[in-house]
Amino acid sequence: MTKKPVIAIDGFSSTGKSSISKIIAKNLGLIHMDTGALYRGITYFALQNSINDDKSINIEKLLTDLPKINLEFQNVDGELQLFLNGKNINKEIRFPQVSDNVSQVAKEADVRNFLLKTQRDIAEKGGVIMDGRDIGTVVLPDADYKFFMTASQDERAKRRFLELELAGEKTDIETVKQNLITRDKIDSEREVSPLRQADDAILIDNTNINKEETIALILSYIKKF
Ligand code: C5P
Repeated sequence: MTKKPVIAIDGFSSTGKSSISKIIAKNLGLIHMDTGALYRGITYFALQNSINDDKSINIEKLLTDLPKINLEFQNVDGELQLFLNGKNINKEIRFPQVSDNVSQVAKEADVRNFLLKTQRDIAEKGGVIMDGRDIGTVVLPDADYKFFMTASQDERAKRRFLELELAGEKTDIETVKQNLITRDKIDSEREVSPLRQADDAILIDNTNINKEETIALILSYIKKF
């Protein structure tokens, strides 16, 4: 049997990268790693431990605190969930306060370096699908397949809003849209590992196609192994 592939999926916020990667992983027998969860985990830690009097994140303190952070994915009922220093934080990392601050934290070179090894170690043996912002460009530049996902801002805001509503979060569509726009801007304009399509990545625009059609489109590019 040939080696299982390494697949990189990058793209804008709320294009469905993680939920689609999870299904593709199941379908092809690969491990799925949602790298956004790691940045969210660090942000959650910062909100608990490294904040200024005005409740903003004290980046300097966070950077000195990095060695105190241990992030691990553990299998819970067949799903990989994130643990911070032994505590399951899978639900907490989706809180709006984390979404509002994560891109500021992800801008920091020290934070990105801190997470680089964790991400590369997982991909070393192959058989992995990893989603994020810089997987095809920086984390796994030699990935066998690279996809870059996009969709219109309105469509993405609508999907994210419905998802939050379903999870019982009280919010409105305009707030959700503003968060997406702000995150995309910070992610694309940062100096270290900005969000951009790798030269050899396949562009997937799913504005007008649903989840199943997006999955089928991505799978159509992947050769049997
Ligand atoms: O994928 P998700 O929306 O959960 O990612 C949250 C944030 O984490 C992104 O907006 C981005 O700031 C950061 N991130 C990153 N690089 C990655 C994955 C996520 O900078 N590979």
